[in-house]
Amino acid sequence: MDYWEDGVVVVEGELIAEVGPYDGLPVDEDLRPGLLTPGFVDAHVHYPQSRIVGAASGPLLEWLARSVFPQEQRFADDGYAREVADSFVEGLARAGTTLAMIYGSVHASATQILLEALEARGLRAIAGPVLMDVDSPEALIRPPELALPELEALAERWRGHPRLQVAVIPRFALSCSVEMMEAAAELARARDLWVSTHISENADEIALTCARFQAQDYLEVYERHGLIHARTVLAHCIHFSPSEWERMAEAQAVVAHCPDSNAFLGSGSMPVGEVLARDIPLAIGSDVAAGRSLSIPHGLAHAYDNGLRTGTRLDPRRLLWWGTAGGAQALGHGPTGTGGGLGAVGRLAPGYAADMALHPVPSYVEGEDGALGALLFDADRPRPTRTWVAGREVYSAGAGAADGGAG
Ligand SMILES: [Zn+2]
Repeated sequence: MDYWEDGVVVVEGELIAEVGPYDGLPVDEDLRPGLLTPGFVDAHVHYPQSRIVGAASGPLLEWLARSVFPQEQRFADDGYAREVADSFVEGLARAGTTLAMIYGSVHASATQILLEALEARGLRAIAGPVLMDVDSPEALIRPPELALPELEALAERWRGHPRLQVAVIPRFALSCSVEMMEAAAELARARDLWVSTHISENADEIALTCARFQAQDYLEVYERHGLIHARTVLAHCIHFSPSEWERMAEAQAVVAHCPDSNAFLGSGSMPVGEVLARDIPLAIGSDVAAGRSLSIPHGLAHAYDNGLRTGTRLDPRRLLWWGTAGGAQALGHGPTGTGGGLGAVGRLAPGYAADMALHPVPSYVEGEDGALGALLFDADRPRPTRTWVAGREVYSAGAGAADGGAG
């Protein structure tokens, strides 16, 4: 990690041209005092759940039935979807998040509305409707012969967009038939789309999944249908066997680590040492609404606690890397990624896209360790005051709205 006590960033167009210690020459904007970081990366978040944050209605399967599924049914209504999409997208920008992998509801129209809101705001995202065709409330069942052509049309509509991509998202094994999973994997392969799903979150979920599919373990269910590869993002990965961890490493599939969500639903603690030992790509997910905040620093603080619980003391520099450059790389937005022509993001470095967030830190904070501590672990920290994507401001708290802190 590079840190400058008093630094300057030169932005030319969408890209960062230069970064280094401030040389005293005139600048267009003096952002001092304040901590400028790369924009954050959220690898797992559900936009149609953004109004049920805090629903403490039980462990995973009960919480889905009681709180999530009734709410997600409302996204059949385009007007409601638009209202929530606009505030959700503003919430991401306000949190300093500049790239996110976003789950929609089953309704392709609600994801189209989300993509329009992301486009208008200027954020980067990989987003898709969730696929569900079995064992779900009637109103959320969308058979493959309807869901996949809708998804393909959506992918076609957004193909080649510089910041937005459409993803293939079988919600989780329990909501998908074999036919759905196979067709989803095929569509992702044919159109080179990201795949994302949930895995190994909750003991009851795992037992039901292995029984229904007569599988040795959870990962096998997705492997069988061609869903596990280096363009797959798997949320949770809490209760994997050693064999599942080995196969994750072999596939170079991405772990979306959602420690706040895992704590809130009582799902368990992800053994992060297994990920580090095998160099498996990892990114942090807020997992709103099981996660209670869109703030990636909030998620990183939970990742630190989760690490301690599982016997791994994480360096705050590694946490910040996961929330920025590491997360971006895991989602194909790194310098050697397969982002389909998208620029590299996640660092303040020459050649990277100018995706940045400005944080008011207290005036007494000094040095790299102090700045990292305040950014990641001070739970009373003020929110970012400004956010940029590709050099364009996508959020500003406005004059007087910054809630203190900067001295
Ligand atoms: Zn989730």
